[in-house]
Amino acid sequence: MKSPKRVAIIGTGISGMAAAIELADKGMRVTAFEKNASYGGRGRQHLAQGYAFDLGPSWYWMPDIFEAFFNRYGKSTSDYFELVRLDPSYRIVHRQGVLDAPAGREACEAVFEQREPGSSQFLHAFLDEARYKYETGMSDFVRRPSLRWSEFFDLRLLKAALRLDMLTPLEKIVYRGVRDEVLRQWLCFPVLFLGAKPSRTPALYSLMNHADIDLGTWYPMGGMFRLFEAMYQLALEKGVEFHFNAPVSAIKSQGPAVTGLVVDDREHLFDAVIAAADYHHVDSQLLGAGRAHYTERYWQQRELAPSSLIYYLGVGKKLDGLLHHNLFFDADFDRHATSIYDEGGWPEDPLFYVCAPSKTDPSVAPAGKENLFILIPLAPGIHDTPEARSQLYNKVMHRIESRVGESIRPHIEYKMEMGPDDFVSAYNSFKGNAYGLANTLRQTAVLKPSLRHRRMKGLYYAGQLSHPGPGLPPSLISGQISAGLVIDDLQ
Ligand SMILES: Cc1cc2nc3c(=O)[nH]c(=O)nc-3n(C[C@H](O)[C@H](O)[C@H](O)COP(=O)(O)OP(=O)(O)OC[C@H]3O[C@@H](n4cnc5c(N)ncnc54)[C@H](O)[C@@H]3O)c2cc1C
Repeated sequence: MKSPKRVAIIGTGISGMAAAIELADKGMRVTAFEKNASYGGRGRQHLAQGYAFDLGPSWYWMPDIFEAFFNRYGKSTSDYFELVRLDPSYRIVHRQGVLDAPAGREACEAVFEQREPGSSQFLHAFLDEARYKYETGMSDFVRRPSLRWSEFFDLRLLKAALRLDMLTPLEKIVYRGVRDEVLRQWLCFPVLFLGAKPSRTPALYSLMNHADIDLGTWYPMGGMFRLFEAMYQLALEKGVEFHFNAPVSAIKSQGPAVTGLVVDDREHLFDAVIAAADYHHVDSQLLGAGRAHYTERYWQQRELAPSSLIYYLGVGKKLDGLLHHNLFFDADFDRHATSIYDEGGWPEDPLFYVCAPSKTDPSVAPAGKENLFILIPLAPGIHDTPEARSQLYNKVMHRIESRVGESIRPHIEYKMEMGPDDFVSAYNSFKGNAYGLANTLRQTAVLKPSLRHRRMKGLYYAGQLSHPGPGLPPSLISGQISAGLVIDDLQ
């Protein structure tokens, strides 16, 4: 009997764990190396003083993708955690007040109609198109490895591509359909998750509006980390071996083929490697000049999704003026986008997001207290200083306090922050990016950094800087596709 192929995974974020599970399920011997003390990557958890903070993702969108993932291995998400649908899905704090986005299409259409008579018809048609894009996009387009254009050369797909609005910017379609500023923000905000301005994001990504309004905003009781715990559990069941506090320092090769990795000055031999850490780090630090898949020049020309300044606060009282998810869009949307994407400086008057999971889940904060996560998007590569952070923190806290109508700062009993420089030290993140590479037209599908190294046999990539892009569902899919390539090549 042949001995099983040995595959190494670098990084135990969602993409690395998805790849590990798939490979182990197909009988490979899988070893995962993680530089940090825990799995989860950008989705790790931090426990302090009775609070449980999710360090990264807080929006559980596209529950069908996670369910299908577990179903593939004979499991269900319900074997691991309880999912609840949030209603309202979230609150938009705007200049004139607040808008609570209700769960479900009909309820949202009613809110549209009330704010702008006639706009519910637009929303209805827009969401029908968005559903088509989601169904075609998520079940087919994004699941192709996108290594070459010929993957997309079939008539059915070409026809679908025409309907997918690959060229029209999403903002154009939304602005044509509705005049009300808050409704425009409502329809444009989901693509901010993909890392580029709505004016530069193809309307294909209105599939995110289907995810938002039709599929809904969900929450795993216990916190988003439950998802990572579930994947870890499944990976262990499949026999994946994990090494934590184990940063990979080099990928070894002989001629044009990978032979293994170096961890703690020790070389480990493998038949293939999936690098599911930040792609630029792998190219520049683990491979180095001459062997890197892309040059430094190539990387400097990529458009990155934003970095972030995040505050994790334990507040010693309940706050009435917040829901679970709160989008503070009470400042100039375009101005902040320009500061992130065009100017690269610290924003004067930022848009930001406040998550209070303790509104839904009593287990993430002590009784009578609130768990707050405040995220301010910043330009990637920004010059990060304590003074700039603290100025922005005070501005943002002042805005939250005046909007919710009560003081918060004197009641903070736990505070931790994470800024662009911390993204670099925690995850080897390129320019401190939080969400990888922006999903612009010029960085979609085959135009994304490739999942397979073209010149080095046995080296594959996965994660949010590769295809299909940022976010938990795409990163998970990326790990699955990459594992599929390894399986095809090694068997
Ligand atoms: C603040 C924030 C909020 C977000 N919110 C959402 C949300 O609400 N919903 C959503 O769907 N998505 C959200 N995202 C995006 C989502 O979290 C990411 O797209 C996804 O988790 C990326 O997974 P990944 O596997 O590509 O990378 P990562 O999670 O970064 O995993 C890469 C791993 O590689 C490890 N590593 C790096 N270098 C080495 C090395 N040399 N050796 C060994 N290990 C190494 C890192 O430590 C890390 O654990 C958010 C992201 C952030 C940062």
